[in-house]
Amino acid sequence: MTDLLVIGGGAAGLMAAGAACARGLTVTVLEHNPKGPGQKLLITGKGRCNVTSDSDVREFLPYVRHNGRFLYSSLYAFPPAAAMELFESLGVPLKTERGRRVFPQSDRAADVLAALRDYAHDAEFVRGSAKKLIIEDGVCKGAVTDRGETLRANSTLLATGGISYPATGSDGSGYKLARQAGHTIVTPQPSLCSLVSPDPACCRMMGLSLRNVRLTLLCDGKPLFSEQGEALFTHFGLSGPLVLSASTYIEDIAKHEYVCEFDLKPSLDEKTLYDRLTRDFAALGSHSAQGALAKLLPNSMRPVAVEKWGVDPAAKAAQITREQKQALVNLCKHWSVRVTALGDKEHAVITAGGVDVREVDPKTMASKRCEGLYFAGEILDVDARTGGYNLQIAWATAQAAAKAAAGCK
Ligand SMILES: Cc1cc2nc3c(=O)[nH]c(=O)nc-3n(C[C@H](O)[C@H](O)[C@H](O)COP(=O)(O)OP(=O)(O)OC[C@H]3O[C@@H](n4cnc5c(N)ncnc54)[C@H](O)[C@@H]3O)c2cc1C
Repeated sequence: MTDLLVIGGGAAGLMAAGAACARGLTVTVLEHNPKGPGQKLLITGKGRCNVTSDSDVREFLPYVRHNGRFLYSSLYAFPPAAAMELFESLGVPLKTERGRRVFPQSDRAADVLAALRDYAHDAEFVRGSAKKLIIEDGVCKGAVTDRGETLRANSTLLATGGISYPATGSDGSGYKLARQAGHTIVTPQPSLCSLVSPDPACCRMMGLSLRNVRLTLLCDGKPLFSEQGEALFTHFGLSGPLVLSASTYIEDIAKHEYVCEFDLKPSLDEKTLYDRLTRDFAALGSHSAQGALAKLLPNSMRPVAVEKWGVDPAAKAAQITREQKQALVNLCKHWSVRVTALGDKEHAVITAGGVDVREVDPKTMASKRCEGLYFAGEILDVDARTGGYNLQIAWATAQAAAKAAAGCK
């Protein structure tokens, strides 16, 4: 009988295991990825691991997309500063980059994983998949593995992650265990993901990366998100940092009409852009309308733009009327791409949805449905934008659960 059984050796599971060991608990970590624990950690931040966001809790919370209030206690108890101090004390010097993103100075996610393994070095690591929780008289007493092994424990932590990047091991199997304990699962969906569009123009412009554009996400015509940055056209639709951030604002894509509207020239107001077009077209009067767009739009966008603009591509720039120039201004300021589906979970950075937080104590991460059971990390219905926020959520909820489990010893 171990004090704490941690199911899932990802970011949250390893942090909880380390914190519980540090409090003197005996800990078993059950991990089913044959490559070992922490496989997703290794690919975070493009292999550099954006460990946390160097911000205080008040600054942090607006970046949490769902159930930020639930995280209030755990984040105050273990804020980003505490995570940074812990990693530095574990021998991972950190640096803070643009947007308060914190990385290891070595730029190696593997160093973060090694530090966590070190933190949890007193834990026993068992390879296997949790198939069933052992629940006796409403109390969770551990789990049974796919090999039929019984792992009994005073406390059990479900830290099995979400459904995104299942190749790393987070295959959604933890939701079944949570359901077995009586929990409600808010439908998981990919988030921080690409967006699928039926607009054939996306495929035609595949590979085109737009820098310094403004993306406004509209839901049934209402703006939900608007930011400036980089977006990418792909064979299936849209991707890139702006699109990933916008995706976290999509709630029910089947029920609503979502449109990504690009302002291709955010630094120019409509009048300035109109005047610029007038100058360009006057200077390039003998060029075709499409040719006259050379300085305005990237190569692969021009034929698509001319089609959307609706002028004869062979018309001379000098013949473009005021109305046509105004229509081009509108096109550049409101380039619309309808999106009809979220990108696949195989490539989504996080999962929105998960264990309903109303059934979990926000201070201790203890289940309100089943004694002896705790949750940490992405299995919970909490998610945030990019910038180190999601790992910080894993660290803070894991610390809260380990502390509470230690109180149960
Ligand atoms: C490509 C990519 C880049 C990212 N970069 C960043 C970043 O730089 N900064 C940031 O803050 N966030 C980043 N994230 C998000 C972050 O990685 C996750 O939010 C975080 O890993 C969640 O931690 P977790 O422990 O809850 O889940 P996971 O890290 O997914 O760990 C869950 C573990 O549980 C195991 N498991 C699942 N089911 C079972 C079972 N039944 N039995 C046994 N084991 C099981 C899995 O194999 C896995 O090891 C990134 C995500 C991706 C996909």
